Amino acid sequence: MIFAKQAKLSSGWTTNVRLNIADGKISSVTENQSPAQGDTVVDTLLPALANLHSHSFQRAMSGMTEFRMAGKDSFWTWRDLMYRFTAHLTPEHVEAIAGLVFLEMQEAGYASVGEFHYLHHQPNGMPYDDLGELSSRIAAAASETGIGLTHLPVLYTYGGAGKVPLEAGQARFGNSVDRFNGLVGRAQAAVSQLPADCRVGIAPHSLRATSPEDLKAVLTARPNGPVHIHIAEQPKEVADVQAWLNARPVEWLLENTDANTDWCLIHATHMTDAETVNMAKSGVVAGLCPVTEANLGDGPFNGPAYLQSGGAFGVGSDSNVLISLTEELRTLEYSQRLRDIARNVMVVGEGSVGETLYTGAAKGGAQALGRGAGEIAVGELADLVAIDSSAPALCALRQDQLLDGLVFGAKDNVVTDVWSAGRHAVQSGRHVKRDAIITAYRSAMASLMAAL
Ligand SMILES: [Zn+2]
Repeated sequence: MIFAKQAKLSSGWTTNVRLNIADGKISSVTENQSPAQGDTVVDTLLPALANLHSHSFQRAMSGMTEFRMAGKDSFWTWRDLMYRFTAHLTPEHVEAIAGLVFLEMQEAGYASVGEFHYLHHQPNGMPYDDLGELSSRIAAAASETGIGLTHLPVLYTYGGAGKVPLEAGQARFGNSVDRFNGLVGRAQAAVSQLPADCRVGIAPHSLRATSPEDLKAVLTARPNGPVHIHIAEQPKEVADVQAWLNARPVEWLLENTDANTDWCLIHATHMTDAETVNMAKSGVVAGLCPVTEANLGDGPFNGPAYLQSGGAFGVGSDSNVLISLTEELRTLEYSQRLRDIARNVMVVGEGSVGETLYTGAAKGGAQALGRGAGEIAVGELADLVAIDSSAPALCALRQDQLLDGLVFGAKDNVVTDVWSAGRHAVQSGRHVKRDAIITAYRSAMASLMAAL
């Protein structure tokens, strides 16, 4: 049993809560209790967020792409370096990096991750003996860390809008529809070894890396979600898709697929107001990655119009240049403030911005990953995080100000405990396998840097 001095339940804040977990789910919640012997006692219990978008291998590049070269660096020059880097990654590197990334996510307060996985083959583009070799490495890292995994194998067939052939640097990503369907089967086999909350979805990489026919084919082969897609990250991408399909990416997707609550549109950055409203009303989740979007110079999300229309959203750490739940949420709000020259933007009418962001991202992130989670209530997965409200950053705040304090004034080190579907992975602020996972990562990086 968990005893929390206070907890944010689906019904609101409450005090002295005892909570039981069975089969990874919350089986009882009772208020006005005292701690019993053997209880795990925590200060403040919240629903833990899903990190809905990650390319874990990119974590190892953090800090390698911040040196200004002659000319203007852009998303596209960053991508070139990423391709050179991936040419040297072995399956062992992929697993060790994912292990570190999942650990960092859990220590930051995330219970689960959507791993948007497009590194499939050997550096020369030949498949491994097991088509799902690298998917099984991601699954192994999830098993080691205990994080709740939604594995999203990526269909990546073309090098640009209009069926441009893949470049050499993209050879590790490429699949036809048939081979992709085989790969999803192998990924499913790997993930079936994990606890029951873990699952497989699919991720057509983007409209520019697939085609309308291929998109239709993979959606027919796998009609149930989750379905994730990069949608409108860069103005060039929007222009290329518009020139090819005669519609902007979000506009095209909403008109030509039955995008619904199973879908997550990553980087819905460049949208008209009409696209924003239509996307909000479709029921899809906007997968926002504010730290990466700032790092890559993508641009800000059209937050006010989207929230006004009731749109669902969640956050992801994408390139993993920095893994921080608090930083992700505050960058989302600050990107809006800087654009609008205004304060308290990401809330409809009056209310707490921190609470709107936190509870919104908890529900939207869980929806995007196909997890029955996002709230503390009986029957939900036990994706839980405990924070210490006596930390200096929070100790002066009232209960109704705590989420504002967490999002705007605190760091991830106020996190004391994290449970992923009941797996108590973070205790006293540290992942229970921290030392072994970090040792494995350091060793993998030493061999990778020697090869680069
Ligand atoms: Zn991405």
